[in-house]
Amino acid sequence: MRRGFKTESKQLALEVRAEIGLGPHDPFDPYHLAEMYGIRVVRLTDLNESDAVRHFTEVRVSALSGALIPDGSSLLILENDIHTPQRRRSTLSHEMAHVILEHSFGVTLAYDRKCGLGGDSENEADLLAGELLIPFDAALRQAWKDATNEEVATLFEVSTQHAAWRMNASGARKIVRRTRAARQRS
Ligand SMILES: [Zn+2]
Repeated sequence: MRRGFKTESKQLALEVRAEIGLGPHDPFDPYHLAEMYGIRVVRLTDLNESDAVRHFTEVRVSALSGALIPDGSSLLILENDIHTPQRRRSTLSHEMAHVILEHSFGVTLAYDRKCGLGGDSENEADLLAGELLIPFDAALRQAWKDATNEEVATLFEVSTQHAAWRMNASGARKIVRRTRAARQRS
C-alpha cells in the first residue's frame, strides 16, 4: 500500500461523507454517494431471468457480491441483492472506494469483498471503504464507550463481523486500552 495512505484515507473518508451531508458519527449511505457520482446501481434480480442470474442468486450466491462496469462514459455497479443489506452496503462502499480513488480497471468482480483488481488497489479500497462505513473518529468514540461489536454494527448498519474488524484494525480499542493503562499508572 502507498505510504501515508492510511492517514490520507481517514481525511478523505470524512470529506466524502461531508459531500453527502454526513458527519463522522452517522451511518454511511453508499447508495446516496453513488447517486451523487451519477453511478447507476443495478440489482442482479432486476436483470432478465437467465441462467447467469440464477447462477449468482441461487446456485453460487457467494460467488458475486458486486461489479463495477464501464457504461459508456460513466460507470454502473451491479450488486447481488440476495445478500444481506449490511453486506450490500459493504460491497457498494468497496466499489465506490475504487471510484473515488480513480483506480484503473476493466471489469471488477467483488468476491467476498475482493474484486479482480488485486494487490494495492484492493487493500486501498478495503481501507477506504472501512473508513467510509466507520470513520476512525467514530470507532474511537465507540471504543471509549466500551461499545460491543453488535452495538457498533447496529449504529453503523454494518455486519457484526465488519464492526469487529473496524474496531480492531482501526486501532481504536488498543488506543483506549493503552490510555486507560497509562492513566492508572500515573
Ligand atoms: Zn475491489
